[in-house]
Amino acid sequence: MTDAIRETAQSNAQDVVELAKRHLVQPWPTAGEVGAEARPLIRGGEGIYITDGAGKRLIDGPAGMWCVNAGHRREELASVMYEQAMLLSYNTPWYTMSEPSAVLAKRIADYAPGDLNHVFFTTGGSSAVESALRFMQFYNNVRGRPEKKLILSRGGAYHGSTYLSASLNGRPRDRDWMDGADDLVVKLSSPNPFRRPEGMSLAIFSNMLVAEFEETVSRIGADKIGAFIGEPIQASGGVIVPPDDYLPRIRKICRDNDILFIADEVVTAFGRLGHVFSSGEEFGLDPDIITFAKGVTSGYFPLGGMVVSERLLAELRRSNHPTAMYAHGLTYTSHPVGCAVALANLDLLEGGILAHAQAIAPYFQEQLRTLEELPLVGEVRGTGLMACVECVADRESKNPLELDTSVGMRIDAHCHELGLLVRPLINMCVMSPPLVITRDQIDDMVAILREGISRTMDDLR
Ligand code: PLP
Repeated sequence: MTDAIRETAQSNAQDVVELAKRHLVQPWPTAGEVGAEARPLIRGGEGIYITDGAGKRLIDGPAGMWCVNAGHRREELASVMYEQAMLLSYNTPWYTMSEPSAVLAKRIADYAPGDLNHVFFTTGGSSAVESALRFMQFYNNVRGRPEKKLILSRGGAYHGSTYLSASLNGRPRDRDWMDGADDLVVKLSSPNPFRRPEGMSLAIFSNMLVAEFEETVSRIGADKIGAFIGEPIQASGGVIVPPDDYLPRIRKICRDNDILFIADEVVTAFGRLGHVFSSGEEFGLDPDIITFAKGVTSGYFPLGGMVVSERLLAELRRSNHPTAMYAHGLTYTSHPVGCAVALANLDLLEGGILAHAQAIAPYFQEQLRTLEELPLVGEVRGTGLMACVECVADRESKNPLELDTSVGMRIDAHCHELGLLVRPLINMCVMSPPLVITRDQIDDMVAILREGISRTMDDLR
């Protein structure tokens, strides 16, 4: 441990929180709290646990932000980062390249479905999405179709915090006070079965979503639409699992209309659903582009990227345009430390974590669903190791709770006291623990969540 880290680790937790309140801008602050907000201090982590400023051990329910897939404090990952930094800490991707980036690209390409075989590395998910969309724009410019640029996205979507990626976001609270490239984006409905019209079957709901998609394409014209982007399972939107046939049908319409199908797998890749990529193995899809981030390094280093289809690249090469340039790259594209830790992380996933995630997921889902007995819980849904507990004012009507009930925040506060960190999303709690979680730990997690919800129900009486 360096002196600087040791010093911070020994300082009074309240002093650190005060420092943050005075000098740190945290993500997603309200105007009233921007630059002045106290958030719980987290000081350490091991396996599925984190330790807060008071030394209290908590289960890391959301695995950071759906990302600490291999768990905290993995020697195998930390040591590789140290070794790579000592060997080559940085390489400029403009003129030269590093070995970890080429080896990682090959390993990722081997897992990608269809003909996706080239990887462009970024610094996270937003920059991965941004890269994919700018690639679509470039691709259509080179092909002489500068009008074909609109992007279809959906309600409930979350694709990032950079300008273009954020313009795709579908949750009102992410958009209400922020500007975006609205003239480039067309929004469709979220494929959220829980909120489908009363009495409608899943099959009819799926038909309705597909009809909306077809109608949009014919109204606007396929010659104006460059891409559809979708999370196979909407994550931050509340773990929305769409009807089974919905994504394959959308994929087909995109192919028939020469609209690029971009699967945003920032959350669903690298083990969350038990596979390296879920598009092919879970949903039978062959997207044109897949974006990824988070679990690729288990959150140990900010890395993301996009995997692109050979067909698209071959078309560009064939055009052999003398001046056209995909003028897009980041200082930290293909960062050697990030790529090295991603390789070590893939070793861990292949070495047992993927198999464990597949084996434990049914128990995780089954146990969480027992919470549906509680009157405040409208639905527990999810698949793999991602789930959402949605609370409602009334189970029959599924009426949502008033925003100011802050039910997610209340559940989180109670659970924190009891030893579990929850990711509150207004009236929902998202659970996506490190993939190494065991049965006993799932039991602990669900027991705490049950008690946290019960205490919240008492608060609301
Ligand atoms: N795409 C999806 C599906 C996400 O869930 C997120 C972040 O949660 C992003 C993109 C943006 O990733 P990042 O926060 O790494 O920029």
